[in-house]
Amino acid sequence: MTLKLSGIIVVLATGGVGFILWVALSLLRNLARSVLGHGEQSPAPQILHSIQCCHKECGADNPRAARFCRRCGTSLAGDTAGRWQRVA
Ligand SMILES: [Zn+2]
Repeated sequence: MTLKLSGIIVVLATGGVGFILWVALSLLRNLARSVLGHGEQSPAPQILHSIQCCHKECGADNPRAARFCRRCGTSLAGDTAGRWQRVA
């Protein structure tokens, strides 16, 4: 009985130590990220590869792979070639 109880305590203690280590590590990681990566947070890279909605009153940025505007639902794939020619 006592042996079983001490076994349970050991298991709980091990789990607690592991948990504390995990929390400490994640805190350190967050700290390191906030110190090292200060001002280096890349601003949404998908904006660079986006298609602007051709709808006059929308103009929302959509992922290049998108077929329809995520804001107004206008088809984006329709005149892609024409827009590419205009760009180039
Ligand atoms: Zn739109």
